[in-house]
Amino acid sequence: MTMHIPFDNTYAHLGPNFYSKQLPEPVTAPQLIAFNQPLADLLQVSGSSVQEQAEIFGGNQIPSGADPLAQAYAGHQFGTYNPQLGDGRAILLGEVLGQDGRRYDIQLKGSGRTPYSRRGDGRAWLGPVLREYVVSEAMHALGIPTTRALAAVATGETVWRDGGMPGAVLTRVAASHLRVGTFQLFAARGQTAALRQLTDYAISRHYPQAQGAMGLLRAVRDAQARLIAAWMSVGFIHGVMNTDNSSISGETIDYGPCAFMDHYRADQVFSSIDRMGRYAYSNQPSIAVWNLAQLATALIQQLDDPQQAVDEATEIVHAMPALIEAEWLRLFRRKIGLTGAASEDMDLISDLLQIMQQGDADFTNLFSALADGTAGDQFKEPQAFEAWERRWRQRCAQEQDPKAVMRAANPVYIPRNHRIEEMIAGAVVGDYALFERMNQVLARPYTRQEGAEDLCRPPQENEVVTATFCGT
Ligand code: AMP
Ligand code: MG
Repeated sequence: MTMHIPFDNTYAHLGPNFYSKQLPEPVTAPQLIAFNQPLADLLQVSGSSVQEQAEIFGGNQIPSGADPLAQAYAGHQFGTYNPQLGDGRAILLGEVLGQDGRRYDIQLKGSGRTPYSRRGDGRAWLGPVLREYVVSEAMHALGIPTTRALAAVATGETVWRDGGMPGAVLTRVAASHLRVGTFQLFAARGQTAALRQLTDYAISRHYPQAQGAMGLLRAVRDAQARLIAAWMSVGFIHGVMNTDNSSISGETIDYGPCAFMDHYRADQVFSSIDRMGRYAYSNQPSIAVWNLAQLATALIQQLDDPQQAVDEATEIVHAMPALIEAEWLRLFRRKIGLTGAASEDMDLISDLLQIMQQGDADFTNLFSALADGTAGDQFKEPQAFEAWERRWRQRCAQEQDPKAVMRAANPVYIPRNHRIEEMIAGAVVGDYALFERMNQVLARPYTRQEGAEDLCRPPQENEVVTATFCGT
């Protein structure tokens, strides 16, 4: 049987300002590692053999209807503007309309060099490919907007990083790959017509109700505010919130050195390249605002009355911190079982976080233990927590079913760093058992599952991962 992917491409019609046509570079011996059947069904990708999946998602065979291209974009990396980034190791095959009526990009990542590769080899190695596969699918199951993973293919080739590593290609699925950095590219070059074209495209693709550039800005702000609050609520640290990794659709994109926290630390950083802690856990809301300000700056360039636009854009950006905080409060209220609002809630939540930090509590386990009444066991010295617990119980008395609220809000399982490392170490020597088990268990993160206790266990001292590395 031949694979059928019902491509319906639109980005390719925007014109050559927006991309470079580029075929994936074939690989020596593509071998399928994983294929996400439920996602394939959603995308209406059908009828193929394992060998054909490996050939297509390894980049050796171009499926009918694909129009492969590398997208152009720029972006601020760690606060410094880089005028020329672009897909240096990714190729958009095209778009499909899913069974849900939504449009999706299908993109290969690690598929060889493009005009934007600079000094890079255009490749990815197995570790980051599996990390992105597991973490993005876990994020989806947590109910947080994210790109997804359709397939992972081993290339049979060696990729040179710190040493020789097995190469792999990830097939990433996204609502689109439009980034803040895509707008910055045209704004910085003064290409106003292209900027307008991109603005119209983004509106019709993601926010058809939005009116004009400022309407788009408002819609992106709202989506990003919800996203960042959701990350905070599960202890997720993105690690590289550069403007080229900040998606217009409001999805989590680019799983490089990302990580979920084990014990709670407000200033936690994992990324080995984030030396100043710019993208630390508690900085994420203000970085999201900074990124939105860059989008505002870019969007304004196309407007006829810049002064009026500046005023409006400023107002839109300045409203973002309060929106993030409101959503943060709503989500953390739910984490402690509250659906109503009382004036004391902010203090109640902040005090719990402080007690967790001082007492070295595991973020995920502490919240999931609240509903079971066993949260005190998470502390070596539970006095401070017990005092908090008395306040909290009084507050819960005003609520209908706090336990049910907590169970729906607090995951039992997150993709823990030390297990991801263990999974990658296994896969490198051909053992995919942990990769498969993590995918299976993390597909239902809010449900306690028999035989999966080890996946809730925080790292022991010798297992703690202190730094994560970019996927390059
Ligand atoms: P990232 O940090 O993954 O968001 O990547 C930043 C930029 O570097 C993007 O333009 C990537 O396409 C490019 N890049 C990352 N890794 C490679 C690689 N191995 N080869 C070529 N370009 C790369
Ligand atoms: Mg990126």
